[in-house]
Amino acid sequence: MKKNLSYAPQNAWSSADAKTRQAMEKLSRRYVDFLSRCKTERETVEYVRKRLEKKGFSQDFSHDRVVRPLRGKAIFAARKGAMPLERGLSLLAAHVDTPRLDFKQRPLVEQPSVVQAKTHYYGGIRKYQWLARPLALHGIIVRENGEVLPVTIGEKEGEPVFCIADLLPHLAQKQVTQSVSEAFEAEKLNIILGHSIGAGTQKKAGDAPKDPVKTRLLEILHKKYAITEEDFITAELQAVPAGPARFVGFDKALVGGYGQDDRICVFCALEALLEAGATGRSMAVIFWDKEEIGSDGATGAASRFFQYCVEDLVRAWAKNVPVSQVFLETRAISADVQAALDPDYQDVHEKQNAALLGYGPCFSKFTGSRGKYGSSEADAEFFGSLRSLYNRHGVPWQTAELGRVDLGGGGTVALFLAAYGMHVIDLGPAVLSMHSPFELASCADIHTSWLAYRFFLESRIEYS
Ligand SMILES: [Zn+2]
Repeated sequence: MKKNLSYAPQNAWSSADAKTRQAMEKLSRRYVDFLSRCKTERETVEYVRKRLEKKGFSQDFSHDRVVRPLRGKAIFAARKGAMPLERGLSLLAAHVDTPRLDFKQRPLVEQPSVVQAKTHYYGGIRKYQWLARPLALHGIIVRENGEVLPVTIGEKEGEPVFCIADLLPHLAQKQVTQSVSEAFEAEKLNIILGHSIGAGTQKKAGDAPKDPVKTRLLEILHKKYAITEEDFITAELQAVPAGPARFVGFDKALVGGYGQDDRICVFCALEALLEAGATGRSMAVIFWDKEEIGSDGATGAASRFFQYCVEDLVRAWAKNVPVSQVFLETRAISADVQAALDPDYQDVHEKQNAALLGYGPCFSKFTGSRGKYGSSEADAEFFGSLRSLYNRHGVPWQTAELGRVDLGGGGTVALFLAAYGMHVIDLGPAVLSMHSPFELASCADIHTSWLAYRFFLESRIEYS
């Protein structure tokens, strides 16, 4: 047979037989459940920790399966493989944080007829997408005595939700002629928390009692949760889109939901770690927080947490091996999403080097922007070894850049791993409506990304 000399990526739906489609659906259902439960970094890390501990992962590093969470916001896990640790790790790195609206430290403000929470947005959002939609509150409140009160309100049937009001079109004549950045101000992202006032608060018509709605809200909060206004100062409260993830389309071939960047990779990497055969290097995953705001902070990729974990792993598993050797021999996938070619805004992409929904996980050889600034760029040799691995196993894959040159760009955690000298490349599914309250991913890509991560963890990838 004549070899095809030209290249085109393979559609993952087209190559999926009935059995594979069933597996896609099954995995996607579990993913929808995961996505509906885990909307913050804390909830995601807790979910991951519980799943791993159930499967025998121990916080004692002398075991063959180990896990270490950090402050509920980052988590590292490793499993012994067939090859000794001196040959490095097969590592999957993803992030658990997602763009959202954080409450300010002094959030409560009384406005005409309502009390609102002032917010400071976290990560890259398009502000108008957060208006006039039901929001849920997730997070914690730390009381003066140190007690931690977990908060999740707005997800269950019958629970109230919260909302930022939007201007009616009749009064938006001036706003619609403004630029998007002028029209939607961060200081107007105020969430309505309550509206009523106490009975008899207004003695007579025209009476103007001070902050009656806020006063009533504080009374309700104190009665229900025993908290005061000062407790908000030591809280982490995040407003996220309310409600579960859903299948999208008549064919239910897409998953729609909040926080798929990058929980889709967290889910696929976790499942891969749990199910991979121990045939290659020792396997590890690291799930970081703070990626959306530059990876700084104790639980972000720029911190030393990952290094400390590997140092402890080497001490426990391979005492006399230099830690630097383990880092240098490690093969890593920075598991993060790529922007899918937007059907309505195709011109912002360079189509030949854009990711398509349904064509399998997408490699990004480099990230960064404007002349590859801020990128660690993977070696062609490492990329080549993965290309050959996936072709051998029949896993569809594709490759892309984030948008047109000089127009798009973005970063991932890859460069923080590359700093250790390891081989690292970005590989993850394409997502449409990225960073929006309702992101879209293909069920075919969820399945093929999980497969790709699993084959990577099982492989003995070499190159000289
Ligand atoms: Zn991401």
